Amino acid sequence: MPTRADRHLRTVRLAKDCSELGARIRTIHCITGLPPREIQRLFFNDPQAIPRGRPPDSPEWYHSANLLYRTDASIFSAIYRRLRHAGFGAGETLVGAYRHYQMVCQAPNRISFDRAFDLASHTDGIWIAKSPSFEVVTCPACASEFLTALGTIPKTEGCPFCKVVQRYGNDPRVQTSFPTHPLPDPTVFQHGMAMLRWKKESGANDNREAPLPSFPGDMQDK
Ligand SMILES: [Zn+2]
Repeated sequence: MPTRADRHLRTVRLAKDCSELGARIRTIHCITGLPPREIQRLFFNDPQAIPRGRPPDSPEWYHSANLLYRTDASIFSAIYRRLRHAGFGAGETLVGAYRHYQMVCQAPNRISFDRAFDLASHTDGIWIAKSPSFEVVTCPACASEFLTALGTIPKTEGCPFCKVVQRYGNDPRVQTSFPTHPLPDPTVFQHGMAMLRWKKESGANDNREAPLPSFPGDMQDK
């Protein structure tokens, strides 16, 4: 049974995670319930470092945002939704999903932590939102999950990922955001297979060192 101290430590830990991801004081307060003055005292010694400006307001923003912002918002929201369905708490899920989003998408990230908080609020109807106004749906054409207004019937026309595919050939910004990864050179694997065969044929008890096959991405000697 967790004690009050355990619960408090967990709350402070969560607040620290949020502040490290760039959250403003209001966001940390909504997620953790810690008083704003305490948040400032604990995490913002330098008043100049406090994130300022107008907080995000996603229900209006999302529908007029450009394509790459909508794909990023959809990627974050799909990860968030999956973790929430797995039964994690909203605050932990927000932090975990945001970190995952940062790993998946190219920096600089278009979705700030405050924006992610706002999207999660309006998807779950929690924190700053009284009721949900977004949901994550699956595209009938490409099977990608994307964010849309609550109650919208999923249609290909609303899917930002289908648009990315359509625009890919002649939009350099889209190409930069979704770089292709070169396919591995098949000759490397043939070389690796030849080495394994050579090792096998030279006998299990033979301890001679065979040169290791190289694989794409391995460091090469210059
Ligand atoms: Zn699609």
